[in-house]
Amino acid sequence: MRRWLFADQLGPHFLDGAHQPVLLIESKAVFRRRAFHRQKAHLILSALRHRAAELGDRALHLKTETYREGLRRYGEVVEVSHPTSRRARDFVRSQEKVTVLPPRGFVTSHEDFAAWADGRRGAARLDDFYRHARQSHRVLMDGDEPAGGRWQVRVTDGSRSQALPPAPTPVEDDIDAEVRDDLDRWAAEGIEFIGRDGPRQFPATRAEALDRQQQFLIHRLPHFGRPDEMLSDDPWLAHSGLSTSFNMGLLEPLPAVRQAEEEYRAGHAPLAGVERFARQVIGWRDYLWHLYWYLDVGYPASARPKGTSSIPEWFATLDAESVHARCLSAALAAVRDRGWAHNPMRQAVLGNYAVQRGWRPTDMVDWFQRAFVDGHEWAMIGNVVGMARHAELGSLTAEAYAVSGAHINRTSDFCAGCRYDPKQRVGADACPFTGGYWSYLHHTRERLHGNVRMTRALKQLALIPDLSEIVTQERARGDAAP
Ligand SMILES: Cc1cc2nc3c(=O)[nH]c(=O)nc-3n(C[C@H](O)[C@H](O)[C@H](O)COP(=O)(O)OP(=O)(O)OC[C@H]3O[C@@H](n4cnc5c(N)ncnc54)[C@H](O)[C@@H]3O)c2cc1C
Ligand code: SF4
Repeated sequence: MRRWLFADQLGPHFLDGAHQPVLLIESKAVFRRRAFHRQKAHLILSALRHRAAELGDRALHLKTETYREGLRRYGEVVEVSHPTSRRARDFVRSQEKVTVLPPRGFVTSHEDFAAWADGRRGAARLDDFYRHARQSHRVLMDGDEPAGGRWQVRVTDGSRSQALPPAPTPVEDDIDAEVRDDLDRWAAEGIEFIGRDGPRQFPATRAEALDRQQQFLIHRLPHFGRPDEMLSDDPWLAHSGLSTSFNMGLLEPLPAVRQAEEEYRAGHAPLAGVERFARQVIGWRDYLWHLYWYLDVGYPASARPKGTSSIPEWFATLDAESVHARCLSAALAAVRDRGWAHNPMRQAVLGNYAVQRGWRPTDMVDWFQRAFVDGHEWAMIGNVVGMARHAELGSLTAEAYAVSGAHINRTSDFCAGCRYDPKQRVGADACPFTGGYWSYLHHTRERLHGNVRMTRALKQLALIPDLSEIVTQERARGDAAP
């Protein structure tokens, strides 16, 4: 039967056999509905069209207004792997001529996750899931023990990252030129985009993705694992830049982790970096994917975090120039210029600022999804709604995340050149992250009471002499660009 592939199902592991016919549908309505980053739109269309070209006669490639119209034009029964969003899942389920297959592109199956989580109601934590995944899939195991004797291995080298060779940039071709022309035309017709156009920075084909993976294994994996670091002159550090390739289905996560393990076993990469990579990919990534579906039914509305205000224009439109706070301006500029920023920028700067200002989580989820090339709704429940927000996902994860300017100062070189001072809580030089942090704790102290991670911070809060001044100052600062 013909297999319908969404744009995040493009690798060979989404097909069965070398001859299976394929349906690819480009829906313009997807881009008409919401303003995506221009480079995200480019990457999606480029990847779909490259896949169609690779498959040749095997692929029926339709350019339509909606998926519904594409299916109608094809007219016969198709099968599709379980889509990656609830909206798409509900749509394919509602179609008579579509057979929905189990999901692909993740490591642990839905059934295995459900069986594991059901047995731990209320305590289905990431750390336990990660162990479960390591054991089930025999990743970094020496017999029954974790390689090196510990499940989590810290990087002990305290020095800052050295400059690493840049990740390979894909070479654009005629397909990219055609995509660029189409997007220019769509923009002229009134379809809105955010962010700047620029050379495509992320793989659109499996070959490009494998190339990036190989370069990562050689150059970056040995330095991987300093999760909190941010440097103003190096947007990539040792990060892999592989999230789009995993999320578009160009790469398979488990083989990527196995290859990283081989680098460790061969003595080419230290255990700390390889373990961290495994934790991010078969741990965090799979965990969030499964929570998204698992909590579909079990996540009580009362547990959903409440924000009060919507995202201000300067943030929503990536107006980095209007921002003086150096870390925040750099993070917005990174997203504006490439639709990507590494995890500490997303978490300690962008997500953290939104938490402190009480911006609505649903708006932040929508923004992250549209502004980031790798943005997917399933990745948000923990990263935006959970980790970057002080929300309790039931008691499934106790992660809570808000930090002050002191943390950003400790983990980056931004503060040295900033017009604000991370140590100042009040006054003209007061860092908006520091003032914002204490003001936020003040406003949420009752909700945070009992959260073990916040006990120390709440004790400190009680000792701050100028708290009311801070609160008044931050209220006055409001949502204006800092
Ligand atoms: C507020 C916020 C929003 C995020 N939104 C997304 C998103 O929409 N899509 C997405 O894939 N990731 C998201 N992340 C997770 C993470 O920031 C990105 O996966 C990572 O920055 C991508 O860059 P990389 O490939 O270089 O990652 P690396 O640092 O090289 O990590 C390797 C791989 O591990 C996985 N990974 C790492 N950290 C996480 C994490 N926290 N959660 C899930 N997977 C992880 C990714 O697949 C990534 O490619 C978000 C994080 C935060 C704090
Ligand atoms: S002083 Fe504050 S605003 Fe400026 S870079 Fe440091 S943390 Fe960011």
